[in-house]
Amino acid sequence: MTATLTAAVPFTTVIGLEVHVQLQTRTKLFCGCATTFGAAPNTQVCPTCLGLPGSLPVMNRTAFELAVRAALALGCKIAPFTKWDRKNYFYPDLPKGYQISQFDLPFSSQGALEVVDPKGALTRNVRITRVHLEEDAGKSMHDETAGTGDTRIDLNRAGTPLCEIVSEPDLRSPQEARAWLNELKLLLVYLGVSDCNMQEGSLRVDANVNLHIPCDGGRIAKTPIVEIKNMNSFRSVERALVYESARQYEEWQATKAEMGKTPKQTRGWDDPAGVTRAQRHKEESSDYRYFPEPDLVPVTVSEEWLAATREAMGDPPSVLREALAATWKIPPYDADVLVNQGRELVSYFEDLAGRVGEGKVASNWMQQDVLRTLNERGGSIDDFPVRPAAVADIIGRVAKGDFDTSRAREIFAEVLASGRTVDDVVASMGIAAVDDDELISLCRELLAANPRVVADVQGGKEQAAAGLIGQAKKKNPNVNPGKVRAMCLELIRQM
Ligand code: ZN
Ligand code: MN
Repeated sequence: MTATLTAAVPFTTVIGLEVHVQLQTRTKLFCGCATTFGAAPNTQVCPTCLGLPGSLPVMNRTAFELAVRAALALGCKIAPFTKWDRKNYFYPDLPKGYQISQFDLPFSSQGALEVVDPKGALTRNVRITRVHLEEDAGKSMHDETAGTGDTRIDLNRAGTPLCEIVSEPDLRSPQEARAWLNELKLLLVYLGVSDCNMQEGSLRVDANVNLHIPCDGGRIAKTPIVEIKNMNSFRSVERALVYESARQYEEWQATKAEMGKTPKQTRGWDDPAGVTRAQRHKEESSDYRYFPEPDLVPVTVSEEWLAATREAMGDPPSVLREALAATWKIPPYDADVLVNQGRELVSYFEDLAGRVGEGKVASNWMQQDVLRTLNERGGSIDDFPVRPAAVADIIGRVAKGDFDTSRAREIFAEVLASGRTVDDVVASMGIAAVDDDELISLCRELLAANPRVVADVQGGKEQAAAGLIGQAKKKNPNVNPGKVRAMCLELIRQM
């Protein structure tokens, strides 16, 4: 299935993504400096990450393990032997004059991750070319406020561990690209590999895009590949790709320029303007003069260590979706919605479903009441004031016939607002279970006042009894509609 854009336009959009994620370590990749976000500039630096003479890097084992965890979850092959390389270039925020990265022997390659879409409209398996480890550079801050054109350098980020994930050009629409990024992010957060916070620069995406345009005689014209940078949300990625495919199509119609004849271009996304703009020409990999890093030993990975890492990994979202659907007998759509909210919400649901004993009932409450109010309030499910025990209590009382679902919703809202117990709220709202005697006399009253309904039911139209429920609730808001209906039918039968 292709998405709406490619279905409606006379070309196929071909997209590959390159994602950099910051690994969730306390310290940097090759020194002991902290990686805490938001520290005062240049306070988290040492001779190693500043590139001072005589300093030597030492690999952070946790960073390596987190990166391997990500690669395993992406189905990649892990190389038994991997080495480090220097990628040489000059930039003010790169004090060493090179970035320690991995060139020809990355620690992993050849994985795949599927696009997941709760609505089921998008499905695609996207191959992963490689995953490698590298260090981040510092940050240039172009000071425009002072009007001096100064640039300040903060090297706190220099040496921060990054995992670079490169996909094959398998994506076929901007919507797919966004859905795939959502799934990748979810996976990395579940595994504890990265917090993937784009505002703090923990996840960055570049996209390669070109068009395949069917021409006369069955030939497919391929437009030159453009790399888009500077997108700071998944929404921007989608918008930039939509814009860029339209721009490339227009350009192709005017110039007929094709891939191979025109060099690869780099363009930056201007979010407020909603356009991409040409940037400097991108270096070829030969321009970087890659060579092996002499200060670091290669890393060898044993089968035992790999097995232990795999063991400690925890379930990825794709496995959890299937497990939830099978264990609690809920539709795949429900499992998807729950899993996409994160591991903490899944735990909350499992606690609730275990108490209620009915997965679908628990799932409905999660989606209609818990999730909706959680989204309105913000914050984490772990701090949500109504705990699974209280929700299960309310659901149990509905099942017993103490009150109906709409009344239950009011109780839930009141427990949430007041922080009181379900017992307290039920008592203060004057909700007591309507006993059988009360129910019988109420139904008798209703039947006496509605001879028409009685006649209809006696004539075989049982559904006419539904007309009594609104009146019953007006007389006593605590009655259970199902019980009123059953009792009225019973009384009519006895007439
Ligand atoms: Zn350092
Ligand atoms: Mn990189």
